[in-house]
Amino acid sequence: FNVPKPQNEPVLNYGPGSAERASLQAALQQARSYIADIPMYIGADEVRTGKTGEVRPPHDHKHLLAKFHEGDATHVTAAINAALAAKAGWEDLAWEQRAAIFLKAAELIAGPYRDKINAATMLGQSKNVYQAEIDSACELIDFLRFNVHYMTEIYQQQPPISPKGIWNRVEQRPLEGFVFALTPFNFTAIAGNLPASAAMMGNVVVWKPAYTQIYAANVIMQVLREAGLPSGVINLIYVDGPVAGDVIFSHHDFAGIHFTGSTGVFQNIWKTIGNNIHQYKTYPRIVGETGGKDFVLAHSSADAEVVSTALLRGAFEYQGQKCSAASRAYIPFSLWPAVKANMQRDLASFKMGPVEDFSNFINAVISEASFDKLANYIDTARQDSNVELVAGGGYDKSTGWFIEPTVLRVNDPYYTTMCEELFGPVLSVYVYKDEKFDEVLDIVDKTSVYALTGSIIAQDRYIIARATQYLRNAAGNFYINDKPTGAVVGQQPFGGARGSGTNDKAGSMINLLRWVSPRTIKETF
Ligand code: GLU
Repeated sequence: FNVPKPQNEPVLNYGPGSAERASLQAALQQARSYIADIPMYIGADEVRTGKTGEVRPPHDHKHLLAKFHEGDATHVTAAINAALAAKAGWEDLAWEQRAAIFLKAAELIAGPYRDKINAATMLGQSKNVYQAEIDSACELIDFLRFNVHYMTEIYQQQPPISPKGIWNRVEQRPLEGFVFALTPFNFTAIAGNLPASAAMMGNVVVWKPAYTQIYAANVIMQVLREAGLPSGVINLIYVDGPVAGDVIFSHHDFAGIHFTGSTGVFQNIWKTIGNNIHQYKTYPRIVGETGGKDFVLAHSSADAEVVSTALLRGAFEYQGQKCSAASRAYIPFSLWPAVKANMQRDLASFKMGPVEDFSNFINAVISEASFDKLANYIDTARQDSNVELVAGGGYDKSTGWFIEPTVLRVNDPYYTTMCEELFGPVLSVYVYKDEKFDEVLDIVDKTSVYALTGSIIAQDRYIIARATQYLRNAAGNFYINDKPTGAVVGQQPFGGARGSGTNDKAGSMINLLRWVSPRTIKETF
């Protein structure tokens, strides 16, 4: 029953005049032509409460795309009950049968649902076509296929040794209870992966996406149902965070949380779980990917073009709304004039606007709250005589939440924008004296309160080796001569420690092992 290691799903290019472009454009038009009515999915039921929230494209906030039905504490309880009711049947299903459901889901996304899920991601999260394709098609498909592969390896691991007359074996049981998946707005792939990876290992799940992710989450749920996922295995609810938390974290059968989101929310959840620990049947698994403040450190031996490309792509693709986005850079004086000129040259050609025009590279940030926060950081920096506005700085919310890609040069490596996570298209640069590389290395490590991703850019092998060693705890994904973003499933297992999470590497065997509880069995003859 071995499932061979898959290849990464090829990225379609949607070039002008291509059939895939025409078909995606038709899907976008279709999605915009009516107001979708999005239910919660609890057990076999589609639940419509009549209390609705709205989905609007972040780049076109006057357009109503969908209404979703919001739930309350009773729906959280109903979702837990539906999950627990489905548990015995799901656990009893042979793992090959579970695997097949997720492989089927991957095929549905690769084929008939590709346009629909890409259109949902483009409209719901304001991602351009290439970003949507990489996220909601390729990465989600890869998560499903690679995780199925890792799952087969877990279930077929070599047994322990057995002396004569004894049979030792290890059984990988699902967790005893239900798993809570709490998913972020910024990646459709992550939204799908968090509930799916726990469910694949035989667990039942209550899934609560960010409200700004509901539009694409609904498509994922349709795919899973069409792929044959039994009712109640994954239950999708839209309930205010604290209301859901009150019910879930005080439930006897709460067995684990699979989380991606902010550091603050994760820490509060951890505290709540700690306070309630005596109420649970078992110690819950706590798996989380949280914030990031990701660095690019350039050395004077670096190529200026490699540095500016890493900065522009790392900081501004996806509007910087990645936990992994490059948001602070350390550049030597000798390189800075060339790096600055390259960035200004390239930024002048970046087009900003709605996703429906495929030539727009920069789209809108997710929400008004995010827009206001970013505009506020930019205004504060503008008024500070210690900060130079190198590029961008403009913003406009008349039709959508548009923030220009902004580069700030700061005099102080501890300045707020060098330390705080902004989650948007704002890059801060500290320019250092070439001979102070060692000091800067130390500053980078000290300011890595988060430790998700980071890059060293240098041609000098000694420097690469030194930075790799010195910064070994400053990033869970460390890149040499590249941007610190764009981890590919099966190639660069993704996750960080310190304030960035439990580093259980999304899309890897490490992650899947968190969703099983092994039982050792010794039989004597
Ligand atoms: N895995 C993505 C990357 O490597 C980032 C995911 C995230 O923002 O959480 O860029």
